[in-house]
Amino acid sequence: MKIVDKQTIRVPLILSFALIIFSINIYLFFSYFRENEFYAYLQSTGINRSKMLFDEGISAEHFNSIDVDLKESPYLQEHYIIYDSTGNVIYKSKYSVPHLNEKLKQTVLKAKITAQKDGFERIIFANKENKKHRTFIIEASGYDLAGFDKQEKLFINLIISNVILITLMVFISRFYIWKDLKPVGVISKRMRSITTKNLQQRIPEANLDNEIGEMAHTFNDLLDRLDASYSQQRNFVSYATHELRTPLAILLGNTQVALMKTRSAEEYISTLKNFEQDINSMVNLISGLLELARMNADSQSIPFADVRIDELLWQTENMIKSKTPMYKINIIFEEIPENDESLIVNGNAELLILVFRNLIENGCKYSENNKVDVKINFDKNKILLDFADEGVGIPLNEIEHIFEPFYRTQKTKAISGHGIGLPLTKRIVDLHGGEILVNSTENVGTTFTVIFTNKSRIN
Ligand code: ADP
Repeated sequence: MKIVDKQTIRVPLILSFALIIFSINIYLFFSYFRENEFYAYLQSTGINRSKMLFDEGISAEHFNSIDVDLKESPYLQEHYIIYDSTGNVIYKSKYSVPHLNEKLKQTVLKAKITAQKDGFERIIFANKENKKHRTFIIEASGYDLAGFDKQEKLFINLIISNVILITLMVFISRFYIWKDLKPVGVISKRMRSITTKNLQQRIPEANLDNEIGEMAHTFNDLLDRLDASYSQQRNFVSYATHELRTPLAILLGNTQVALMKTRSAEEYISTLKNFEQDINSMVNLISGLLELARMNADSQSIPFADVRIDELLWQTENMIKSKTPMYKINIIFEEIPENDESLIVNGNAELLILVFRNLIENGCKYSENNKVDVKINFDKNKILLDFADEGVGIPLNEIEHIFEPFYRTQKTKAISGHGIGLPLTKRIVDLHGGEILVNSTENVGTTFTVIFTNKSRIN
């Protein structure tokens, strides 16, 4: 069932219920007051009649002649019977039937009795006149024609008002609910039309400062992110192709040139050395790409164990130094850890070494002095590693891009590289639940800070 249908039933149902209860209340109150009023009327006219008969000396025949004849209009007839204190009838209007018996008399002398039958209301009460030392028991009955008429009119009026109001409520609430939910239809129609081919399309969110507008806004944000990651994916493939095709084309060209004529052994050695360099660079690129793909596809199956960060740093230092001895790496403990556990992180040693290698090699590669200081710090239950160099730095407007695959800053284009290391580094740090921050000043230096939660927090 659609929300608009559900709400147009629910809202008027609740309001109708309230309206009907309210109407029943009014009706019952009216009926109660009508009845009480009529009994009060019968009581006072009964007392009047007894006074006129026994004090004013008006005869019973006189009343018989002025009382409405029961046969002509029974509902206009009022009956009065007056008994003396012993219960004997001393006056009775035409056609009246006495109801008083001994038992009733005893009750009436204590309190008045009221009863209703077929709409006729009857009151029997004792009228004690203390000054004259006499007591009459008066029985008065009649049909409250005017009262019942008003009550019936009120009933019809309430029924009609209820029907009109409930119908109006259904239509008005349906209209407003439909009006409020109309944008949802528009939004879902637009959502259905958005595919990977037109990810730039957005949902209209103007003039919607309500929950639906918020939802449209959130969905547009999601589309922004999807669009960005989709175009990143597309760029990734085209960059990867370009990065692999260019060195291969150069390699092919150089091979063809080398084969054009017979060359000396020195020339062959030099050409092969060039080839070695290019192939090495491609191997680096391919292994970086494979690692990145593995991270994205298969990160769940990577084994984790407790590893000592300082040991991994020493291992990384040895690895780098054996390959590029001119790189200078200083591993410095800024603070002495409280216990060994502060240095232990739950992670994958191979991947963490890759992170440290990328950051140290970048620092050395992009600075003239080829030097990186690795500082080890602790903060509560975290281990903080600073990789600081005094190199070319990263321009402020480019910092946000350096973790994108294949992104390389303008300043470093001349130095060999592929722009795969940092995205991979970030992915690995994320996988370890860590954080990576960059602080850089152009021509002064760059510091990458990597933060991991250490073992003492987990325990
Ligand atoms: P690569 O170093 O192979 O180009 P990375 O993904 O490791 O790829 O780095 C991406 C880019 O970020 C680099 O090309 C460089 O422009 C910039 N960068 C990374 N580290 C530094 C650094 N320490 N100093 C200056 N620029 C850096």
